[in-house]
Amino acid sequence: MTKSRHNKIPLQVNEVLEDSAELLLNFLEYSKSGASPVLQNEHIGDIANQLNVQHHLINGFQSKEEIKKFIKTYLDYSTQIHNPHYVGHQVSIPHELSIVPELIHGVLNNPTTLYEMGQSGATLEHFVINWMLSKLGWFKGEHLLDFRNRENGGSGFLTHGGSLANLTVLCAARASISPDAWTKGNPKDLVVMGPKSVHYSISRALSIMGLGSNAYVSIPTDKYEIIKADQIQSTYDAIIKSGKRVMLMIANGCATSTGYFDPIEEMGEFCSKNDIWFHVDGAHGAVALLSKKYKHFLTGIELADSMIWDAHKMMRTSTLCTAILFKKYKHQSQNLKQKGGYLFHEKKSFGKDTLPYTIECTKAPLGTKIYWALAAEGEKAMESYVESCFDKAREFYLLIEKSEDFEGFSPPETNIICYRYRPDIISNQQQLELRNKVIELGQTYITSTEILGTRYLRNTICNPLTKTENFLFTLQKIREAYSTLVGNHFVSKQ
Ligand SMILES: *Cc1c(COP(=O)(O)O)cnc(C)c1O
Repeated sequence: MTKSRHNKIPLQVNEVLEDSAELLLNFLEYSKSGASPVLQNEHIGDIANQLNVQHHLINGFQSKEEIKKFIKTYLDYSTQIHNPHYVGHQVSIPHELSIVPELIHGVLNNPTTLYEMGQSGATLEHFVINWMLSKLGWFKGEHLLDFRNRENGGSGFLTHGGSLANLTVLCAARASISPDAWTKGNPKDLVVMGPKSVHYSISRALSIMGLGSNAYVSIPTDKYEIIKADQIQSTYDAIIKSGKRVMLMIANGCATSTGYFDPIEEMGEFCSKNDIWFHVDGAHGAVALLSKKYKHFLTGIELADSMIWDAHKMMRTSTLCTAILFKKYKHQSQNLKQKGGYLFHEKKSFGKDTLPYTIECTKAPLGTKIYWALAAEGEKAMESYVESCFDKAREFYLLIEKSEDFEGFSPPETNIICYRYRPDIISNQQQLELRNKVIELGQTYITSTEILGTRYLRNTICNPLTKTENFLFTLQKIREAYSTLVGNHFVSKQ
């Protein structure tokens, strides 16, 4: 018979914590040295076995050695985003001090949607929202510690991810154009305009809301998948002629695939003139606001009505952590008109609840994470980090252009670069196979994307340790992956 859980010696939390800290810090140092592969590929069943999941599920952890072994195995099969050869998805490389708010949260578990359930966490949330609003020019308070809501002042709150944030904004835009929709359902004449390359969360949100993904009307784009400003009027005229109303116009700030920005100023001017809600999806690109050198990409942002900003992409904050920002508080307050007697009642509060505005009921103290990422070295350090990622992408792109076997897409605007390997002989499908081979070999981590039907390899430069030599290493690994494929089944175009 297996030993019962009840007669084992209780584990000493302090010892387990010490062991865990040591393992994690070693992992961090090891990853940062770039000495080992970014990832090891293993089948799901084998990882489950190595983690001994069945045993621990039934018996619980029996000793601190078992926990150590578990953590070690867990780390072995985790992607080393701190490794300087990681140039993959747009996921932030958390600041080392980010470990602290995660620990605090693990102990406190204070949800912050109700101020009274987590006052410190809620305070930091409202503080970072003020900070973000001030970067947008939407903050109307006297100083960052002014937490009053102003009907025509900026407002916002944090939510679990950009997809949920976009859904929330679409609901707010619907509440603005059709206040009855919340109770009576959707009118049949609402559409959303924007670039074809908009993040998929928008079309998903339209389906979830019952407007249907067909309610999305694309404005023609150029060869960089950027909206052609001179096509906005005709697209709009066609919509009006068909008897529809525009609920919202959306701009990529920036596009997930290419990292390029739509013409925000022109779009904003059009929306102001025609009284259309203008939303900028800044999930990735909002951080350009932090850089004097790059904030021009968001020129015209003051004309927007809403923006979303993922701190878990470019602000060194662990997942998930997104801000939804409104230029006017009334757009936030008239959204999601729900009643829940045990939660929504008049009360005297020392602070502010976000519960009336968020889709979540329980919400983690997300502001604490962003605040720590900022306070770790001060806001100036965040600005230089963002700027250096953008700078490095430009520098690496030049290396691509200089090499004979790679062909760049076009110079980057942010820290995302796209290119192809030997497009003279490799097909679209094979670019994808090449990418998959690179992942299988594990020495580096890259992604891929399709731009106007053409498959590209794609990198996000977000690791502060990634240098020229690491990028050259990645290019070399792509060449090597190609050689393995050629030796195998890969047949070139010619
Ligand atoms: C990543 C991204 C999203 C989705 O954000 P999640 O936090 O991953 O849900 C939305 N829009 C854009 C432009 C993005 O880059």
